[in-house]
Amino acid sequence: MALEIITVNKVRERFKPAGKGVWAHVPDSDWHSWIWQQQQRVKNMAQLEKVIKVTDDERVAYEKSNEMFNMGITPYYATLMDPDDATCPVRQQSVPSTKELNILPEDLEDPLAEERDMPVPGVTHRYPDRVLFYTTHNCPVYCRHCTRKRKVSDPGSAAQLTQLDNGLKYIEATKTIRDVIISGGDPLSLSDDRLEWILSRLRACDHIETIRLGSRNLVTLPFRITDNFINMIRKYHPIHINTHFNHPKECTQEAYDTATRLADAGCTLGNQAVLLKGINDKPEIFKELVHKLMLMRIRPYYIYQCDLSQGISHFRTPVEKGIEIIEALRGHTSGLCIPQYVVDAPGGGGKIPVNPNYIVKHEGKKWVLRNFRKQEFTYFEPN
Ligand code: SF4
Repeated sequence: MALEIITVNKVRERFKPAGKGVWAHVPDSDWHSWIWQQQQRVKNMAQLEKVIKVTDDERVAYEKSNEMFNMGITPYYATLMDPDDATCPVRQQSVPSTKELNILPEDLEDPLAEERDMPVPGVTHRYPDRVLFYTTHNCPVYCRHCTRKRKVSDPGSAAQLTQLDNGLKYIEATKTIRDVIISGGDPLSLSDDRLEWILSRLRACDHIETIRLGSRNLVTLPFRITDNFINMIRKYHPIHINTHFNHPKECTQEAYDTATRLADAGCTLGNQAVLLKGINDKPEIFKELVHKLMLMRIRPYYIYQCDLSQGISHFRTPVEKGIEIIEALRGHTSGLCIPQYVVDAPGGGGKIPVNPNYIVKHEGKKWVLRNFRKQEFTYFEPN
């Protein structure tokens, strides 16, 4: 037992605490309160100027974009921003840029056609056995690269109790549904009571096997995972939590502790990163990220090619970049660390895996394959 504690603490020491930055005077009781963090979010220029040296571009971008897509940054996440460097990966994900105002002809308001496949408001039902259930439009941090900018951050369009109830009634009545992804916004913006109401209704359905929670709170507000939340979630297992770390800088000791508590509570944890130009579009950054995630017991699950949502074209990389990253991971690190690179097809085509090509030649029962060192090997299928 003593050995186990020493080992765990050794791993924890590899993660740097975020600290409180300009909020050093705030008592721990407030700092560690997710409600306080939500209430104290950086939402305007005056607040932002206390945390970073705001550039002219950021100022103009805020003025022109805030009505369409709010700025909102938890104090915790804001402390991770470099005050002097506008290219900081955390800052680029949370502070507006004038590049967001550039809407390209190929940009789409709803690139994944999520609104089209809604049998009832707030439930996307495209595949027979799975649904996406939108429960809120609030998030602790409004990510500048969000694919659901059309509705996230807009409290006016958020699901009210009646809509949630109708969504649950649809899921309860549709026996082909096996897997429910509770999404938003960030569902962990809801209270524990509201979440429990949703989870208990879903677990009461014999046809529901898989319940997934999609949440970025592990990254942007790790204090959301309270004892109360842990005790509540334990009652509804199996619960799978998919989160969204994009850069090793986000892997703090606070995030490590939160992931540890969720894993200890029996949740499986996966990460869905988005490939973002100027933020994580380098193989060495991704390698460091996936290694840190594995130490946090979070399995790298997907790397998404950045969607065709409006106002995020400056984050998009060529598809070759994603292939290059997978090529740099496969064989060069444990297979467990390697996420699947996917393009979520515009128009609702679903996730399409894109991989480096390891097939050199295929003739009848003969396959010539190459490995990560580009050495060729021949495999014969049996007659
Ligand atoms: S947490 Fe997710 S839903 Fe919320 S703004 Fe970020 S990417 Fe969008």
